[in-house]
Amino acid sequence: MSLAEIEALYRRPLNELLAESWALRQANFPLLLKLAVPGARHYEVEGFRNTPHRFVGVSLTGRACALGCEHCRGELLAAMHPATTPGALRALADELVAKGFS
Ligand code: SF4
Repeated sequence: MSLAEIEALYRRPLNELLAESWALRQANFPLLLKLAVPGARHYEVEGFRNTPHRFVGVSLTGRACALGCEHCRGELLAAMHPATTPGALRALADELVAKGFS
């Protein structure tokens, strides 16, 4: 895509882009929405309940977050396993597998 095409895309009205995007989505994907549910929080709604520790959260930045979103300020990272180096990530994976995670 050329720079001119990208600039033209930015100038198009959002509603037009959304309608076009939705049409493309419908034409190419089934009407099915799959969600991953992290284990950091417990969810229980009609027809679904997540299992704690089934979906392990891992933070490659440890407790550091460069964005600092207003609703979170990095608190989400506190519930995750830190793995800030390849070796730490490997050790964590080995530890989780040994505990029966799959
Ligand atoms: S949601 Fe929380 S952890 Fe994620 S980027 Fe925002 S502040 Fe950082």
